[in-house]
Amino acid sequence: MAGVIRRLDETVVNRIAAGEVIQRPANGVKELIENCLDARSTNIQVTVKDGGLKLLQIQDNGTGIRKEDMEIVCERFTTSKLQTFEDLSAIATYGFRGEALASISHVAHVTITTKTADAKCAYKASYSDGKLKGPPKPCAGNQGTQILVEDLFYNVSTRRKALKSPSDEYSRIVDVVSRYAIHNSGKSFSVKKQGETVADVRTLPNASVVDNIRGVFGNAVSRELIEVGCEDQKLAYKMKGYISNANYSVKKCILILFINHRLVESSALKKAIETVYAAYLPKNTHPFLYLSLEIAPQNVDVNVHPTKHEVHFLHEDSVIESVQKHVESKLLGSNSSRTYFTQTLLPGLSVSGGGEVKSTSAAAESSERVYAHQMVRTDCRTQKLDAFLQPKEKSPPDPEPAGPSGSKAVTKTAQPDSVEMDETDDADMMEALAEQEAEVPKGHEDNANGVQRKRPRKEQQQQEEEEDLRAAATPERRVIKLNSIKELRGEITENTHKGLQEMLQNHSFVGCVNPQWTLIQHHTKLYLLNTTKLSQELFYQILIYDFGNFGVLRLSTPAPLYDLAMLALDSEESGWTEEDGPKEGLAQYIVDFLKKKAEMLEDYFSMEIDQEGNLTGLPLLLDKYTPVMEGLPMFILRLATEVNWDNEKECFRDFSKECSVFYSIRKQYILEAESGEEQDAEVNSWRWKVEHIIFKAFRTLFSPPKNFSEDGTVLQIANLPDLYKVFERC
Ligand code: ADP
Ligand code: MG
Repeated sequence: MAGVIRRLDETVVNRIAAGEVIQRPANGVKELIENCLDARSTNIQVTVKDGGLKLLQIQDNGTGIRKEDMEIVCERFTTSKLQTFEDLSAIATYGFRGEALASISHVAHVTITTKTADAKCAYKASYSDGKLKGPPKPCAGNQGTQILVEDLFYNVSTRRKALKSPSDEYSRIVDVVSRYAIHNSGKSFSVKKQGETVADVRTLPNASVVDNIRGVFGNAVSRELIEVGCEDQKLAYKMKGYISNANYSVKKCILILFINHRLVESSALKKAIETVYAAYLPKNTHPFLYLSLEIAPQNVDVNVHPTKHEVHFLHEDSVIESVQKHVESKLLGSNSSRTYFTQTLLPGLSVSGGGEVKSTSAAAESSERVYAHQMVRTDCRTQKLDAFLQPKEKSPPDPEPAGPSGSKAVTKTAQPDSVEMDETDDADMMEALAEQEAEVPKGHEDNANGVQRKRPRKEQQQQEEEEDLRAAATPERRVIKLNSIKELRGEITENTHKGLQEMLQNHSFVGCVNPQWTLIQHHTKLYLLNTTKLSQELFYQILIYDFGNFGVLRLSTPAPLYDLAMLALDSEESGWTEEDGPKEGLAQYIVDFLKKKAEMLEDYFSMEIDQEGNLTGLPLLLDKYTPVMEGLPMFILRLATEVNWDNEKECFRDFSKECSVFYSIRKQYILEAESGEEQDAEVNSWRWKVEHIIFKAFRTLFSPPKNFSEDGTVLQIANLPDLYKVFERC
């Protein structure tokens, strides 16, 4: 017997169709949020119960719905946003099909409460199967619309069963709200479970896109973002957004893609971008991207089914390739940075005087058009050399191992300094010295921080003003009136190489070659800098400028000066010979001598020596920075032998020179320390110190001396325009 073909009941048809439009609560939320945005809302609050299956409520402060329209809003194909078919091609709002509310009302109980600016009061109405259940009732309410969706899929049991757990549905909803919140910075969003007082995601009206990314995805990604933006008139598209740099990666690619302000997906674009990152990220890890594309409306097929998030548009391949290229250039920072490393070093003077550097920067500022070959990486957060080095299997390098907490940093940096010195009897003491956590008393920590901030940029003022400024900024800071110190400061200021100073202030950090050499970029040039010499000079200048105002790095175990002196005398570097007399005698002499200077050393340099002849504290020169303790014995020995203690100025200069050698970043100590057992976890520690402490200080605290441009301390090794010329001929 043949089956009878019967026309399906209309409500069943509608229900099936609706189930296709609204497949899960998160689809509904997306449609409803888009309606709020179409209604020019600036505050959108989403409340959810049981993953949206029991209740979904969206409250906005938009235009509201006129009372006379309330009857038909839930019917299919009713919309206030479109009148003719031609309008479709120039649509600027999200909705245009008039399908969302209708669909929802076929599979849930919908209640709308709304008030327009003109209306005297709000109106409330309930709907089912696209129809108004009764006339809208006047009620109290603020301008805007509240859409309440209850018992979603109450009449579609198959759909209900197909859905995963309410918590899974809830996290999808949070995800949708978060993404719209990021895209719509300037408007506030919140999403929470019903009955909870605290929202799971909440953005503020005055927050930036990055603020919102931080709020949703956390600090780890927000601090590694590069801003992107490009435009192509021929392809008729604009793009802007934020992408993670090569320091950051996640297990799964996060691509938040908006096209013409609609949250969409494009697997073609995702694939193109993933290929770019594959070259820079560790295997099986992925980037984070938020991209907003605006494409000429006539080129995008907006007339896709609401559940088809996958978009296609005209000239898709070309647009994707153009976006891909832009992302890659931003990610690389400079599109030629890799070619630098094939260049041989050019010895000798490379940084000409201040004039030359100044004119380049002036040119860069004044010229309107920057040609591609002049564009350089200027954002220090972008690609660095480390990204090219394979991370260790077990512990991927944390780009910021010391973290923001000062005490943690001190503890950590003290560790890699430990070294095995088994040949000497004093190995134990050295170990203890190296392992101990230099304690920074709270007050001093602040002091050290303050010092950094208060040291103004050199270019702007004379030494005198500088002193006034500092004195004014911290009343507790001692004003040093000693002529000797004033003279030493004057010498530093007078001998400043302005060009080098400008370069160090505005450089982009490229990476460490080894502890002794660092690469930086400035404008179109790449420089190789002697970190040892520069850091030594930096510490010298800090010792002179902050004279009498240091914090203390207190040793948790006092270090006997006698043992330190013996260690130094035992080393080859001391040059001790039999003629100098027995080491024990010399060591005792050094202890007695330094004890006599203890009061002065503590007062001026925060170097603490106790009654028993133990070293208990060292000056805190830069926040989070501890010197490598292997240099301590020689420092003690040289204090007794190389400092002219009879002349005030010489004494301060000599002491500061010796102390700065001890504090400087030096290859031999660090490499020795690295060969020790600690290396696994802390291998990058000196790199971190160089980049985040030493080179950061160069930006603000440093007056590089003139001779550094001539003695090989600073070498220019490549210039981008020259490289282009070379390659053009190839
Ligand atoms: P569409 O958005 O495609 O027009 P919808 O079914 O999503 O279709 O909405 C139907 C109509 O209801 C909209 O055109 C709009 O006039 C009105 N509307 C829906 N939500 C809101 C809201 N939050 N604020 C103001 N008007 C709304
Ligand atoms: Mg809509």
